[in-house]
Amino acid sequence: MPVLTSSRTSTPCDLFALRERLRATALENSVAGRRADLELQIAGEFTHEGCRREILCVRISGAFAGHDPIRLGLFAGIHGDEPAGCAALVELAASLAADPERVAGYELFLYPVVNPIGFERGTRQNGAGKDLNREFWCNSEEIEVQAIEAALRTHQFHGIITLHTDDTSEGLYGYAHGRTLNEALLTPALDAAKQFLPLDDRAIIDGFPARAGLICDCFAGVLSAPPEQRPQPFDLIFETPGTAPFDLQVSATVAALDSIIRTYPGFIAYAQDL
Ligand SMILES: [Zn+2]
Repeated sequence: MPVLTSSRTSTPCDLFALRERLRATALENSVAGRRADLELQIAGEFTHEGCRREILCVRISGAFAGHDPIRLGLFAGIHGDEPAGCAALVELAASLAADPERVAGYELFLYPVVNPIGFERGTRQNGAGKDLNREFWCNSEEIEVQAIEAALRTHQFHGIITLHTDDTSEGLYGYAHGRTLNEALLTPALDAAKQFLPLDDRAIIDGFPARAGLICDCFAGVLSAPPEQRPQPFDLIFETPGTAPFDLQVSATVAALDSIIRTYPGFIAYAQDL
């Protein structure tokens, strides 16, 4: 299976390559008759300066595991200049397709590039110059935000994971929003990722108090569950250090996501026993 190498992604504008790889994985999967269904969907589309752009979604559905499927929404590339998360979601899709047991009981929706114009240009903002991660749930006019809000409302995810890169940090960290379940998922995820990159153990990260790479506070307007959704899903933000080698950022992110996918069903079983 082809690997998205650092040399290939040193030009982070290679949306075409990302898309072709997803197509190839979907095809391999269907030919091999594997039990995880992998399907490419279009979560949104728009025209920018005369060219059509799509927000892709990869839906991966695993085998029945004795309960209703756990729906997770995984998002990357909200900031177009943070391609490690985009590559990590493509990597995750490919590896889950190759090893479908890991996704049994799940229905995953992966959005590798929420901000396609920013991704092409290598900019944080979208084509209109907006930081999309300050635009959620405030009647944004940005089409990318509207498309993702619609997906969040439609799928009512049990969990939301958003991937970012911070080029002012030298280590991994995450936002747990002060909720116990989030912390219980994020702590082992950071542990799993630590085999590739160190934790950011500063007491203040991104202006917020932090402990062992965990931040409780957050900015307003970030990608999150619909405010009216009950119960609220678990909701994590995972950050890699932008100056670290690209491949290690990708590996650390995939390890963190794997950890969360492995760990979460245990929490459901625990909650049902209460
Ligand atoms: Zn970001």
